[in-house]
Amino acid sequence: MEIEIFKKDDRELKFLVTESSVPLVNALRRIFISEIPSMAVDYLKFYKNNSPVFDEIIAHRVGLIPLNNSSEIYIAPEDCGCSEGCEKCSVTLSLEKTGPCTVYSKDLVSDDSDVYPILENVPITKLTDGQDLKFDAIARIGTAEDHAKWQIANAAYKHVPKLDFNLDKCDFCEECIPICPKDILYKEKDEIKVKDIYECTMCRACEEVCEQGAIKVSHQKDSFIFFVESYENMDVNDLVSKALEMLSTKLDNLKNLVENI
Ligand SMILES: [Zn+2]
Repeated sequence: MEIEIFKKDDRELKFLVTESSVPLVNALRRIFISEIPSMAVDYLKFYKNNSPVFDEIIAHRVGLIPLNNSSEIYIAPEDCGCSEGCEKCSVTLSLEKTGPCTVYSKDLVSDDSDVYPILENVPITKLTDGQDLKFDAIARIGTAEDHAKWQIANAAYKHVPKLDFNLDKCDFCEECIPICPKDILYKEKDEIKVKDIYECTMCRACEEVCEQGAIKVSHQKDSFIFFVESYENMDVNDLVSKALEMLSTKLDNLKNLVENI
């Protein structure tokens, strides 16, 4: 397998994978979207809430606030064995506000300086005169297999497109050039050429407009364009390292299982 990076910043990574297969890249995609452990608020203990919003709605809103994921000292609740969360498996984010005000994610005060809301201005509720809100939000490790609030990345892949031109059939009407929505086709010395094949969405507009049937759109079977977007809970470098480590562990486990049959 070979990898070539197309685009990379703090949040996104786009790369080309060659000499691979659908099961392998799909396994990687599934790890990114649902198996990487992260921290999210799991339940709330309310002490006071006479705001117009029910406890359950506030709990749901707080659960969806993305938290920084740099701390690796916490263990998953199922590995801890405690019933309600302890210092090994949970972090408490406390909130106490009195109206009139809007309560934002930045009002959550965390026990651990490494676990905090990434976005400061997520509104939780509004309080008016005489209304109070006081709760402890308990954040725990989980994965998006259980709930989408633990999802910290999006990932997708597509086959590398392939355009074949049959020059014996082509009459150079050039109708395929303007019809391409990605504008990747051009004419050069009696030949239709492709600017950037990776931009092709395989919409087949060029194939359909060509009455001579000179264009055939298909894809390469073992090459993929892979895209990862971090939701900023974790740097994209750490995210990819973690996903590859998890995939490698899974493959090692499978190998051991097969060898022991
Ligand atoms: Zn615990």
